[in-house]
This record gives sequence, C-alpha cells and structure tokens, in this order.
Amino acid sequence: MLHISNLSVSIDELSILNNVNLNIAPGTIHALMGPNGSGKSSLALTLMGHPTYKVRDGSVCLDKKDLLSLSVHKRAQHGLFLSFQQPLEISGVPIASFLKASYESMHGHITPTELKEKVLFYFDLLNMDHALFYRNLHEGFSGGQKKKLEMVQLLLLKPKIAILDEIDSGLDVDALQDVAKGLNFARQENPELSLLLITHYQRILNYIKPDHVHIMQKGTISTSGDHCLAQHIEQHGYDGYIDAAN
Ligand code: ADP
Ligand code: MG
Repeated sequence: MLHISNLSVSIDELSILNNVNLNIAPGTIHALMGPNGSGKSSLALTLMGHPTYKVRDGSVCLDKKDLLSLSVHKRAQHGLFLSFQQPLEISGVPIASFLKASYESMHGHITPTELKEKVLFYFDLLNMDHALFYRNLHEGFSGGQKKKLEMVQLLLLKPKIAILDEIDSGLDVDALQDVAKGLNFARQENPELSLLLITHYQRILNYIKPDHVHIMQKGTISTSGDHCLAQHIEQHGYDGYIDAAN
C-alpha cells in the first residue's frame, strides 16, 4: 500500500534522510525506532508534506498514487494521517470546528450534533473528560491529553495509514493503556488500517504487537526485523544492538 523507495531528503543544503526504503502492506503494524536525531520525525513530516523537508531523490506511492506530487490536504484525503510528536496549541480554533472541518473534508457533511456524539463516544473510549471538547485546539492541554486528542482524530477520520510520532511519550501507564485501547479499536473498526508507530520504548509494543520493527540511524533504516528486535533494543540499547549484529 505505502511504498517508500530510495527517499533522500534535505533541509536547505543539509542532508537529513538518505535512501530510505520501506514498504507497508494493508493491515500491518510497523514500529520505527532509533536514537534521537536519527530522522524519524523528519520521515513522518516529509511523508505528510511539510514544506521544510525537500525531497532530493526517491519516490513514495500510496495505493499506486504518487504521494509526493500531492498537497498536504490531498494526502490526508487519500488516507494518510499523522499524529505529531509535539501537537501545537492553536488559540481561537475551537476543537468542535476543527474536527468538523477535518471530518467533512474526508467524509462529507455532518451536523454539529452528530459530530459531538461521535467525538464524545471516542472521548469515553479514551477516558477523556468531556469538558475538554469545549476548549480551543490543545489549549492548556497536558501532554497526555494532547496525545489522546490526536487519537480521537485518528478514530474520527478513519485513515488508511496512520503515522504516530511518539504517541507514547510522556504518557503514564493508564494513559498509555487508553491510547493502546484506541489503536486496537481503530484496527477492529478497520482491519485494513496500517500503522507506523515511531517510538523509543518497547512498552507500547506490549499492547500493540508490531509485525515489523525498523531501526533508523543517521537518516537511514539500518536494520529491520520482527518484534524481537524491539525487545533486544530495550535490553541492550542501539549500541548494544550494533555490537551484537557485528
Ligand atoms: P528524530 O525524530 O529521530 O529524533 P528528527 O527527524 O527530529 O530526529 O531530526 C533529524 C535531524 O534533522 C536532526 O539532526 C535534526 O536536528 C535535524 N532537523 C530536523 N528538523 C529540522 C529543522 N526544521 N531544521 C533544522 N534541522 C532539522
Ligand atoms: Mg522525533
């Protein structure tokens, strides 16, 4: 479904990603791990179409469509979803208006009442206080509340493929379980949903078992394996893994 081939990306003259190759089939879960600064978020933002990241070489196809030629808006309409590592607070944009506009751009008209009903169902699923629904986008939210609202967007928008950039960072164990519950619910609703989970830790992978684990180092995917690779990293770190591999 998603085919990334030989993707190389720069910011200004600085090379950030080099020859990244990754194939994600429908309904599969991929974990992307790697040290800080290795390029994981850059890959996520490039796929979504962030203008800072200039593609020097390579291609990305989603369902045989050339993703890189599409605007961010069209990429989302085509079924690509990104949950940010650091979701922004946007004053003056009520959550209800934001979610209504996002939903309608993908799925057509919905009344405010229908939207609220759907959203509050997902709030309950994720153990979120209904009062948050009446705020501006992420305004005054804790780190965990922001990550949960990103999950609500995923559940509401029903993408084909979701890239989750450190959805688990800053979450306590209860919030982590709620987010994992949301992800598993989304997969039940749509078994074809593919996930690219960017994470530093094995712990979320205890709740959502990845089919494939990839390690990114210095802007490229250096190693791929199954869920055992994530356990090995947890025990030995990235250096330990390199030593073991050599
Ligand atoms: P990760 O998510 O794996 O921690 P990032 O993709 O955030 O890594 O960063 C990869 C490299 O690209 C780092 O060296 C980082 O400093 C650099 N980088 C990322 N975004 C920018 C930016 N907007 N401007 C300058 N450098 C950037
Ligand atoms: Mg990052």
